[in-house]
Amino acid sequence: PPRHGVRRQRQMCIRDSYEKFYLAELHAEVDGIQGAVRNAVESVLSELGGLGDDITHFSEVLDASGERLQNDPTPEDLNNLVVELVKETARTKARSQEVEGSLHTMANELTELRTQVDRLSRDSRTDALTGIANRRAFDESMKKMTDESQESGAPLSLILADIDHFKAFNDTHGHLVGDKVLRFVAQEMEQCVKGRDMLARYGGEEFAILLPSTPVNGAVLLGESIRAIIEAQRVKSDQGEVLEKSTISLGVAQYVAGEDISTFIERADACLYQSKENGRNCVTSEEQLEKH
Ligand code: GH3
Ligand code: MG
Ligand code: MG
Repeated sequence: PPRHGVRRQRQMCIRDSYEKFYLAELHAEVDGIQGAVRNAVESVLSELGGLGDDITHFSEVLDASGERLQNDPTPEDLNNLVVELVKETARTKARSQEVEGSLHTMANELTELRTQVDRLSRDSRTDALTGIANRRAFDESMKKMTDESQESGAPLSLILADIDHFKAFNDTHGHLVGDKVLRFVAQEMEQCVKGRDMLARYGGEEFAILLPSTPVNGAVLLGESIRAIIEAQRVKSDQGEVLEKSTISLGVAQYVAGEDISTFIERADACLYQSKENGRNCVTSEEQLEKH
């Protein structure tokens, strides 16, 4: 594999263990909601089944009453019939009101479950640490946007950004301060994107931006301004200590109609790797790559 492939593999390991943990939690929650929906549906069905039996019984009572009316009923027969019908009518009405109440409760429960499913669906596309889109959401957008670009012929560019020497930073300041830098970088990047641009945390300390309707030179300009903004600021530790600057290296590629998504990403990744080789804290596009 190319040399940058090794770096990628290590990142995949970090992502895989995180995803396993995260997916286990997600599955548990989905199972819970699935169970709740199944229970709700089953109890509606059994309520309706019960009501069906009562209504069948009521209609049989009405049929029988018709017959009794045709057989020269005495005033006493009529009186008994009316008393029975009043009782049966009241009973059926009460039952249907009961069922109406249950249906109302059930509708409320299902609305609540829908809210939960919506939240779950949002959570499953959000990175918990930084609040921006996660890899799953990125993959979905990538599929959509490459399809669109292929169809419309509009340019689509990808920026991959990776924090420089982040392992050393973590080793010096600890993981929690590292997390703070990750949030800072995510926030700064978020300020720089707009409209349909898709910013995501792509891996541990790696970010991706998909830029529809943007040719590679436009993406390079955006990458350069993000790079400069990050370099110009300092994150403070929780103790108020001003930390050394964090920098990012970036790689930029433009989608070639018809190519595999993995090829598109690899091309941007090769540019990112070249930025690292060139001393970090810089942007490389394929045009520049060819000069090396
Ligand atoms: P380079 O400039 O070549 O990118 O060097 P690097 O040290 O940034 O790259 P390397 O891939 O060796 O290390 C990445 C580090 O990112 C290691 C890992 O501990 C850290 N990292 C990944 N995810 C997180 C996270 O969620 N929080 C924190 N604090 N650190 C993370
Ligand atoms: Mg990395
Ligand atoms: Mg790094």
